Amino acid sequence: MSPQDQLNRLRREMDELNREMLDLLSRRGELAVEIGKVKRLQGVERYDPVREREMLDFIAAENRGPFETPRLQHLFKEMFKASAELQGEDRDKTLLVSRKRQAEDTVVTLGGATIGNGRPQLIAGPCAVESFEQVNAVAEKLALSGVKIMRGGAYKPRTSPYDFQGLGFDGLKLLKQAADRHDLRVISEIMTPGAIDSALPYVDIIQVGARNMQNFDLLKEVGKTDKPVLLKRGLSATIEEFIYAAEYIMASGNHQIILCERGIRTYERATRNTLDITAVPILKQETHLPVMVDVTHSTGRRDLLLPAAKAALAVGADGVMVEMHPNPAIALSDAQQQLDFDQFDEFVNGLTTQFPQLDLVKK
Ligand code: PEP
Ligand code: MN
Repeated sequence: MSPQDQLNRLRREMDELNREMLDLLSRRGELAVEIGKVKRLQGVERYDPVREREMLDFIAAENRGPFETPRLQHLFKEMFKASAELQGEDRDKTLLVSRKRQAEDTVVTLGGATIGNGRPQLIAGPCAVESFEQVNAVAEKLALSGVKIMRGGAYKPRTSPYDFQGLGFDGLKLLKQAADRHDLRVISEIMTPGAIDSALPYVDIIQVGARNMQNFDLLKEVGKTDKPVLLKRGLSATIEEFIYAAEYIMASGNHQIILCERGIRTYERATRNTLDITAVPILKQETHLPVMVDVTHSTGRRDLLLPAAKAALAVGADGVMVEMHPNPAIALSDAQQQLDFDQFDEFVNGLTTQFPQLDLVKK
């Protein structure tokens, strides 16, 4: 056989192999689509990295050359990516918190108070629990104002280790005692997985603070409880990271989640943080979860609490959180930004004038 004939023969053989490979690739694609359908039926739609690792290990074990294993694995990885695209694995369809996954709003219900049902809630209370007298005075004031949910930090995440760290578990008990006296529900921050179990009898909503938004162990553990969780946006978290943090909680089984925009860090110094007001409609569009706005930690300024709260309700927030204290000047934390009782009255009046649908029940 002449060299030219030999080349032609080899090329025909190559064409034949290409045809076979094309056929195999197409069959692989069809199989991937089938697998996607079965996974969807099982409710496990997500891409499985462990499975991919197994397939790549298989390539390594079976490779007889002449290609080097990393080269072959790279080629196969490209094929896996193409298959995943065929399965239509886009984030919006797969995330449990996604609006595409559940069209109806999630409504969070506590005994006697509802968040996300169209009537915005006001959550108020001191930055930190300091004494029974303090939280009891606040509880009395809140009940008189018609507020249903009281906040108060027992475990305080403080920037400096020398600042007041909160009363811890004792603080939770004081908060609950005061709330019970005035028929209020309680929200308080839990900072570690180990503190969850003991806290459960004392809180109606578990707060996960901004500094813990990506404490994945904490997210998984609060996700295993049957208490609603209010998740605050991290100090420098993107909306996508915020949504994934909520997904951690829901993926662990807890569907009662409230998102809370609390301002993000920017170069602006006029406010403590920059309230990302458009995060509210974005989160409402992209997820089915209720969204609240913490006007205290986002602005850090008393004079901006009311306008920020109005803005929050105007863009569709399901509620507002604000800090108030019987005597802010001597508060052990956030003294500059908490409202005193008279200022709280002004705040509530100002808000209800424009938003009479606020869920306040005067006693
Ligand atoms: C708080 O609400 O008490 C608090 C510490 O807020 P953040 O986690 O948003 O800073
Ligand atoms: Mn505070």
